Parts: sequence; structure tokens; C-alpha cells
Amino acid sequence: MQDLLNEIADAMAAETERGKVADYIPELAHVDPQQFAISLATVKGERYSAGCASTPFSIQSISKVFTLTIALGKMGDALWSNVGREPSGDPFNSIVQLEHESGKPRNPFINAGAIAVVDAIMMGHEPKETLAELLSFVRYIADDESICFDHVVAASEMAHRDRNASLAHFMKAFGRLRHDVDKILGTYFHQCAIAMSCDQLAHAGLFLASDGVNQPSNIRVVSPQRARRINSLMMMCGHYDASGEFAFRVGLPGKSGVGGGILAIAPGQGSIAVWSPGLDDYGNSLLGTKALEMFVQRTGWSVFGH
Ligand code: GLN
Repeated sequence: MQDLLNEIADAMAAETERGKVADYIPELAHVDPQQFAISLATVKGERYSAGCASTPFSIQSISKVFTLTIALGKMGDALWSNVGREPSGDPFNSIVQLEHESGKPRNPFINAGAIAVVDAIMMGHEPKETLAELLSFVRYIADDESICFDHVVAASEMAHRDRNASLAHFMKAFGRLRHDVDKILGTYFHQCAIAMSCDQLAHAGLFLASDGVNQPSNIRVVSPQRARRINSLMMMCGHYDASGEFAFRVGLPGKSGVGGGILAIAPGQGSIAVWSPGLDDYGNSLLGTKALEMFVQRTGWSVFGH
């Protein structure tokens, strides 16, 4: 497995087409597009990585998997009265579908859906309380107390929040949000600005690969049914309007972020995190996807078989 990861890292280093680093969040535009990392945490407790796998990066929308997990823990299926479970077929920051469905976002992984999930988690609390809860959950599942928010990235998003603010105000106009919009957005941007390395992220995703049990501590994070459902949402919606393409090429539940990371889950096998900052036209990591495609071709770990 280590040889395979080295081979993938070498192949990605040789690629000249690396995509475009997100610049609509100015702070992310400074990230060096040459970086690449891949980490694998297996359900048997093995750890492998190649490239700059201990370098923290902005996990961005990958954080939506963690807030969804917390929201389901707090309110169970009641969450679904305000957030749908269907792929949107629209870009991650699209507003169009909200108008046709009374402000109810299609799924928890598009921005509108993630904003509604944050609102659900807040439950009358201040942003800093919600963020403390989120951070301790992420530190717990990654078994790493050093994980932090990147406050500079969060501030950069807050200063350029018009697009997400319009999604939030639009949903609020339909009575879908309960808290103050700027407080919801401040919480959402900090959530997206969690900085993690591929090593930490692969560890954090492991509970989804082993029926909800965090390894190696053997503590249950969610029920097997909930792990299966979160995986299915990642498969159908985790790459926005390119989710079909990701399923076609990789065939694993996956969640991307505009920081260039992807968390992919091979149920029963392990959790794989990749990072390459350059994005494709859909806002998903160009080489991250390519690396995962190479990984499943060699391991046969796609949920659809070889
Ligand atoms: N924080 C980003 C945003 O709200 C997250 C988008 C993403 O990673 N796809 O625009």
C-alpha cells in the first residue's frame, strides 16, 4: 500500500495541468498549487501516506460532513424537514433551486444546505459555543488536539460573504433559518476554515468506513445505519454538479472542498484523504480526483467493484 501511495504521489508530481486555486476567497489564492498529499487510514489500524501529508490546509466543504453528523446526532430525522437529500445538479453556491422549493436546500452539502445545517446545530447558542462543540468533535474523531480554525481564512470569507449571505437571507425569508444571518455565517465560515492535514482528515473519516465506529479507540460515533446514510449522501451530493462524474470515475462516497481536499470513504476498508489545491471547473480538486481514480483502479476498493 505504501508503494502504491508513493507511486500516486510521483505520478501527480509529474502532472503539468494542475487546475486553478480558488481565488474567490482571497486568502486561499496564496496557496502553492504544486503541493500534493494522500493519506490512507485503514479499518485495521494501518496508516500510510505520501507527499506533504502532515501539512494543514483549509478543509472548506469537507467540514460539511462533520456538521451533518453533529446535526443528525442532535435532532435525528427532524433535520430533513429543512434540508433535502437529493443531488442538486447545480453548482455548490447556486441559489436557483431554493426559489422553486420554498427555500429548502436540496442537500446538506451545497452551501445553502450546509448553512441550514449550521442553523440547526446552533439551537439558540452563540457562534463560539457551537464552534467549540464542532472543534472538540473533530479533534475527537481525528484523535488530535492540535486541530484549529484558521481565523485569517474565516475573516477572508466573512469579508467576501455576499454570495453566501444572499443564500442565507433567501432561506430566512422562507422561514427556514432561526438565528441571526451574520451569526450563522460567522459560524459557517469558521467551520469551513478548519485547518487539517491529510493524515488528520483520513483518521477523522474512519468512523464512516467502519460502520460508525471510530478506530482504533473502538468507540461508536454513529450507528451503522447513520454511517451508511452519510456515505450515501456523500456519494450522491458530495461533489455538487460533478457528483455523477466522481461516482463514475472513483465510485466511492466522497466530499470535496475548495481548499483542494477530498475525503473519500471505502466502506469496510478505510478512509482516504487527498489534497491538491488546484480545482476543476466544478470547484473540486483536479489532481485529487485523478489520484483517487488511480487508487481505486489499483485497489479495487470502489463500492461498485473492479
Ligand atoms: N466556504 C466555501 C464557501 O462557502 C465552501 C465551498 C466549498 O468548499 N465548495 O463558498
